[in-house]
Amino acid sequence: MITIQVEKTASEGIGIGKAFLLHKTKLSTEFGPVSQQDIPKEIRRYEQAVEEAQAELAALAESNAIFQAHLEMVKDITLYEGVITRIKEEGLCAEAALHAAAEEFIAIFDSMEDEYMRERAADIKDVRFRLMCLLQGVKVNPFDDIREQVILIAEDLAPSDTATMPAENILGIITQEGGVTSHVSIMAKNLGIPALVGVKEICSKVKTDDTIIMDAKAGVIYIQPDDQTLKKYCQLQRKEEHIQKERLKLKELPPVTKDGKRVRLCINAGRLHDIKKAMEYGPDGVGLFRSEFLYMDNTHFPTEEEQFKAYKSAALLSCEELTIRTLDIGGDKALPYYIFEKEENPFLGWRAIRISLELIDRFKTQLRAILRASVFGMVRLMFPMIISLEELRRAKEILAECMRELEQEGLAYDPGIKVGMMIETPASVVMIEDFAREVDFFSIGTNDLTQYLLAVDRGNKKIAAMYNSFHPAVLRSIRRIIEAGHRCHIPVGMCGEFAGEEKAVKLLLGMGLDEFSVSGGGVLKLKELIREADFREAKQLAGKVCEKQTIQEVYELLGIEC
Ligand code: PEP
Ligand code: MG
Repeated sequence: MITIQVEKTASEGIGIGKAFLLHKTKLSTEFGPVSQQDIPKEIRRYEQAVEEAQAELAALAESNAIFQAHLEMVKDITLYEGVITRIKEEGLCAEAALHAAAEEFIAIFDSMEDEYMRERAADIKDVRFRLMCLLQGVKVNPFDDIREQVILIAEDLAPSDTATMPAENILGIITQEGGVTSHVSIMAKNLGIPALVGVKEICSKVKTDDTIIMDAKAGVIYIQPDDQTLKKYCQLQRKEEHIQKERLKLKELPPVTKDGKRVRLCINAGRLHDIKKAMEYGPDGVGLFRSEFLYMDNTHFPTEEEQFKAYKSAALLSCEELTIRTLDIGGDKALPYYIFEKEENPFLGWRAIRISLELIDRFKTQLRAILRASVFGMVRLMFPMIISLEELRRAKEILAECMRELEQEGLAYDPGIKVGMMIETPASVVMIEDFAREVDFFSIGTNDLTQYLLAVDRGNKKIAAMYNSFHPAVLRSIRRIIEAGHRCHIPVGMCGEFAGEEKAVKLLLGMGLDEFSVSGGGVLKLKELIREADFREAKQLAGKVCEKQTIQEVYELLGIEC
């Protein structure tokens, strides 16, 4: 038995099962020329790849219409002839010929006036990728071999991987890279899957089919555990399940302290499925709907109609509040159909509102869809990563333009829709009073706020120990944001992971936080803690904590062990 101690937990819970070591698809991009005598072989290789792609896509098309379109493209005679001609006349290998022929198609679609047609270029890229994988004998979807419930072990997972990952078969996730507030950790929490990230050399220590126990509470991993450990953890797992069942009794009760202070307790969601699942726990609504997942799970920029449908469903599912955050892409979140220029510091680069304010047509498409969905529930709109009043005002101007357009077109929307912003940059904290006068609510994004205030990358495992929201600078900023919001009579929520930090609940209550927004799986535990707290006591505690000068002193006061 090998035991590995892990410093921080990304998503709590116990996972027991067989390991599945994920090998991500890596395509070679270096293609050599072929000799005259190899040309018939290259043609055969391409024809075989086309046949296999057709068979794969025909099966996939039964459950997803997008693959029907891909199937038509694979069959398309112009693409086929384009490839074969290049092999024959230019002496290219099948991969190089496919690349060049598909590029020609992509350029044609890209130059089209119609947005829908322009976005078909993404489908060609998907089809090319599938054919390339078949030519090189690698898997299009690296999760295809998961046929039973497993503990997934990977070097790293991108947020977009969670779209193709068969969540129902994943008992736990362990990655070599990543930090506890990286997006893979957040997705695992939303899905209620135990996760440990930044686990050094895990991929070389584990083989597929090894038995794994992951205790993502105490932060321990056992590889090939002995019978005694296995028995102990099976019992622990059953106990945890029992506790969670007991907590369900809290579902109908309000999140109110012993002395009557009522706060709002909402959930964070990335996909409709997250909302559906979390509604079982009786939250007050959705405090953060990360709209970027709608973009990441797609083969093209989602159209207004596609977004409208998704937001409408989300509004209907959310019962009460639904806070839709506009596209927060960039950083560690890429789009499969859009090429981002390589940046030295992506988290300090072209991200979130910066992209929306440059790709204005895309931004308007999203705003129109959100506005149209706003008549189906209590929809709020929120801008991410704001650093200046110019950005905020420009975003609101574009929103007003969309409202005018919808009015002219006779399309309904809620003219009183609440417009808020994430507070997740140091600039927004420094200018908090100025922002408070121009929005309807704040939501504190501690994941980024901590990273930017402390200049500590949230996904870098080497400095993971320095990434700490209990740092006095972060705590004093949070207090400052709440006080400024209240002075201007606007509610202040928190949707960063710190809102679900059990050791911080009393402190945040005491600071006066109005809304906690956490992953679905954390709602009941948090409600339990809120209902056990005393608001007056919490206020005194918050006062004392904010006077502390070091993390160590904060920990001592909150009874946190290092
Ligand atoms: C945050 O930064 O705290 C936040 C909620 O946004 P995200 O984690 O999606 O960057
Ligand atoms: Mg953020």
